[in-house]
Amino acid sequence: MVKMPFSCGECHLVLADGVDQCPRCPSAPVSSDWTGYVIIVNPERSEIAKRLQVDKPGRYALKVNVR
Ligand SMILES: [Zn+2]
Repeated sequence: MVKMPFSCGECHLVLADGVDQCPRCPSAPVSSDWTGYVIIVNPERSEIAKRLQVDKPGRYALKVNVR
C-alpha cells in the first residue's frame, strides 16, 4: 500500500515524506486526502499557479480535502 504524503490545506503544497506540517504555513491544517498532482516550475507563467494562488515553484495538490 502506498502512503500518500500530506498536503497543506492552505497553500496546497505537497509535503515531503514523513512531514506533517507545512513549512510556509505552520498553523494550517494538512491532509493526506487530496487529488491532482501538479509540479509548478514557473508560477508567474502558469494558469494553474494563478488558480491556486501559488507564487513559489514546487509540487502542489489541485484539491485538498481538509476534515
Ligand atoms: Zn502551506
